[in-house]
Amino acid sequence: MFQPIPMSGPDLTAAEVEAVHQVITTRFLSFGPYLTEFENSFATRVGARYAVGVSSGTAGLHLAVIAADVGPNDIVITTPFSFVASANCVLYERGIPLFVDIDPQTLNIDPAQVNAAIQDIRAGRPERWLPPALRQTPAAVGDIKAILPVHVFGQPTDMDPLLDMAQTHNLSIIEDACESVGSTYKGRPAGMLGDVGVFAFYPNKQMTTGEGGLIVTDNEDWANLFRSLRNQGRDVFDTWLTHTRLGYNYRLDELSAALGQAQLSRLDTLLSKRSQVANWYTTRLTDIAGVQPPYLTPETTYMSWCLYVVQLDPDLDRNQTMTMLQNQGIPSRAYFSPLHLQPFYRQKFGYQPGDFPVTERVAQFTLALPFFGNMTEAQVNRVCQVLDDVIQQQRV
Ligand SMILES: *Cc1c(COP(=O)(O)O)cnc(C)c1O
Repeated sequence: MFQPIPMSGPDLTAAEVEAVHQVITTRFLSFGPYLTEFENSFATRVGARYAVGVSSGTAGLHLAVIAADVGPNDIVITTPFSFVASANCVLYERGIPLFVDIDPQTLNIDPAQVNAAIQDIRAGRPERWLPPALRQTPAAVGDIKAILPVHVFGQPTDMDPLLDMAQTHNLSIIEDACESVGSTYKGRPAGMLGDVGVFAFYPNKQMTTGEGGLIVTDNEDWANLFRSLRNQGRDVFDTWLTHTRLGYNYRLDELSAALGQAQLSRLDTLLSKRSQVANWYTTRLTDIAGVQPPYLTPETTYMSWCLYVVQLDPDLDRNQTMTMLQNQGIPSRAYFSPLHLQPFYRQKFGYQPGDFPVTERVAQFTLALPFFGNMTEAQVNRVCQVLDDVIQQQRV
């Protein structure tokens, strides 16, 4: 019999165990030297002036939205093909996540559509871009404040056109780099392409802190704001019970920071192991009819693999494929389910199927296969073998 294959899993060694153990022996569990060391090392790694550790990627995105001055009814242009946190962070500040459709190859936000939306909105013709529920009351819609691209599955968005638009129209760019630690776009590190970048370290990401995240920026005022907001609104010069502004408890504890530092020291190894697994998959899948391996654009000068997501041919039933795989002990996931069709987005904004056709078409046929750094070639072969069988059974 075959051993079950997990969907994902962290790559942890004795070095990580030792790092966490060390923190416990200090008996000093929050806001100490391990956080500072992790922040400084991470900043050096990506070439950022400032890195601010936070309790999750979602928390980091929320703080980035606050820094970009997003308030009630302000617009943030973003993608509907993502994890829900990249749009929810706008709602936390009562802003409007304004979705535009994606590029069918990279699966990232389509810069041409972003440009068209900005032109129409700034010319006073926002209706066709607004969520259906807001089309009757366009006057109640505020200004565009930011663009929030998501580097989906690790592949950077085509950022240069977005950077041009941001400059021309005075917009901030918040990069959701939660899936792309280590990726580069035209040689430049993901997360350092816009005004602020956010990373996430949940256990299924390329590196983990348990729960945790980190914000990078070159903007000193924003870095100070992030440090205050994550720490209950205390400014650096405030005493423990003085709170200059409304803040949060979004701190990253010492245990998590030490784990993060140990993972960061091994990041090149972590990424190359994942890259090897992705290569095994891609090589095997070229022999299998009905499956397209992930597309990599030439602008992706280094691909840091977060997930390995294939697309099935349209004559295949993705959900049935998932069930058939599961029956053979192979887990898989339907990444992503379009955000505009999530129950509360439909209820709040009146979205319907058909509103973002590229996203919906892609989302119907994408399939994330088991993927983690310690996956063996034999495991990859088994997944591919079962996938091939399951596809052939559907085609008889
Ligand atoms: C994982 C992820 C997040 C959120 O990270 P958490 O640390 O789980 O809060 C945000 N956006 C994307 C695209 C992600 O994949």
